[in-house]
Amino acid sequence: MEDTDFSKIQELLASPQTILLTTHTNPDGDAIGSSLAFYRYLMLKGHSVSMMVPDPFPSFLAWLTDTGKIAVFSQQKEQVLQAISAATVIFSLDYNDLNRLNDAAGPVMASSAIKVVLDHHLYPAEQYDFKFSVTKTSSTAELVFDFIHAMGDEELIDKAIAESLYTGIVTDTGSFSYSCNYVKTYEVIAALFRRGIDGEHIHRLIYDTYSEHRLRLLGYSLSDKLVVLPEYHTAYIWLTSEDLDRFHYRIGDTEGVVNYALSIEGINMAALFSERDNSIRISFRSKGNFSVERIAKDHFDGGGHANASGATSYLSMEETVNRFRNLLPHYRDALSTVYK
Ligand code: MN
Repeated sequence: MEDTDFSKIQELLASPQTILLTTHTNPDGDAIGSSLAFYRYLMLKGHSVSMMVPDPFPSFLAWLTDTGKIAVFSQQKEQVLQAISAATVIFSLDYNDLNRLNDAAGPVMASSAIKVVLDHHLYPAEQYDFKFSVTKTSSTAELVFDFIHAMGDEELIDKAIAESLYTGIVTDTGSFSYSCNYVKTYEVIAALFRRGIDGEHIHRLIYDTYSEHRLRLLGYSLSDKLVVLPEYHTAYIWLTSEDLDRFHYRIGDTEGVVNYALSIEGINMAALFSERDNSIRISFRSKGNFSVERIAKDHFDGGGHANASGATSYLSMEETVNRFRNLLPHYRDALSTVYK
């Protein structure tokens, strides 16, 4: 699916703007990587640019260039509110509904700035003036590359921009294991390597940074909290706040845990339920043509991609898990006939 107003956005950026880049709550590698790359590009183009995230990002992304310039709404509210009111253009990167900004959503929606979405998730909200929305792509980072390329500015991509884009693509594809069956993704990767990035080093910076607690939390999740339901080709992991406290949980520590549940042979859908201040965060993953986006959207008011989606539940852990388990009989056939 492709829905872009590129020429209108190009026209908009033809004169210097005061731009605020926003991304989603619980920012991941693609949210941060695409924001940093786009930030640097727009600065090089002579715009006045600031970046905000609703809440903190994981520390394994801190090495990227310009992370010190990202304002965290939950910690620097005044600074962000100022940036919102000064902005003439506000971008949504790696998410497509301003409501996902949580407490920052109100002020952003009330702003008179032109709202632009640059994203790869399904079904962008109608609240945007302009869209650069492409779903058949690896990541928002790849779309930022496409955008810069379409602007005729590929020569502005320096090593710092290339590292941020590479980080977005690597993390959003699980190190090239999903959402990456596109020749073009690898052409973009080749272009980034030509900017002198060190892919092996970046991989170590992103993935070989577990704390002992994080690794033990993973071990505990797999040995004690993994439930496998072979009859439904489904497996899930549930982590209460006590579990997370026990392993001194820090932001990012449950990143990727759900993929282990999906890695079991014959399992076509996996879920991770983790308890955060009075809500349950749910990550869904699936293989092949079984869409967890439908499960997330229809039953948990969430969304995302066909094979990777998320939602937040305000029910208890028990009620949330039960709601999920009760759905499974309805999807039994679809779950057992997954192809590809
Ligand atoms: Mn993404």
